[in-house]
Amino acid sequence: MTELQIRQFPCLNDNYGFLIHDPDSGETACIDTPDPEKILAEAAAADWRITQIWNTHHHFDHAGGNAALVAATGAQVIAAKYDNHRIENISREIADGDHVELGQFRAKVMFTPGHTLGHIAYYFPTEKAAFVGDTLFALGCGRLFEGSPAQMWDSLQSLAALPEETRVYCAHEYTQANAQFALTVDPDNGDLRAYATSVDAERARGEATVPTTIGAEKAANPFLRPNNSGIRSHLGLADDMNDDEVFAEIRRRKDSF
Ligand code: ZN
Ligand code: FE
Repeated sequence: MTELQIRQFPCLNDNYGFLIHDPDSGETACIDTPDPEKILAEAAAADWRITQIWNTHHHFDHAGGNAALVAATGAQVIAAKYDNHRIENISREIADGDHVELGQFRAKVMFTPGHTLGHIAYYFPTEKAAFVGDTLFALGCGRLFEGSPAQMWDSLQSLAALPEETRVYCAHEYTQANAQFALTVDPDNGDLRAYATSVDAERARGEATVPTTIGAEKAANPFLRPNNSGIRSHLGLADDMNDDEVFAEIRRRKDSF
């Protein structure tokens, strides 16, 4: 069976660019457009022709290269209907539960507001892969620029409900800094400590820590674990507090870490 081909490469300071390719149809999609020149060079190196652009949200490091890439490739742009006033060159507007296709591969559109109010993620069930933009990071989550903590917690729960083996393609290499913060919230978590140690080793070798998996994040990412009694007692939060309130407190602490 043919597999979706994924090419991941660093862009700008700490973004990742992703090209995904169906070898049978020849279709190639670019997930976000952080750096058009870099993306075009990667596509040329793979001998792939970019036919689609799938945006996760409107921020400049995600959609800022749309116009240049469309000019260079004629690609169709798929983006959230919510963002139709602030993402350029949209060809198709999508919403939660829609599906988008790359040749034989089909991704489910998951509305994941919080970082921004129009944020979406793309999930390929057959490929066990999710492109999550700035919603879920390895050992972290996106900053709440527009949404409420309750909205972000809802979005993170929908991602956490994906199968544990799902590979999670986050849009930034923030993992080492996230690990340092996570250890202040959940210092006695052995899975987190082991994860942090391997991240340090990977970064020392200059390797990417992305993709991660849903299973690894559920075990170690404090933003997916507000219900954990160890985290609650470490932060001095009551057992009967709602998960979204504990999530909000962890997010607040990270904002000033
Ligand atoms: Zn962003
Ligand atoms: Fe970003």
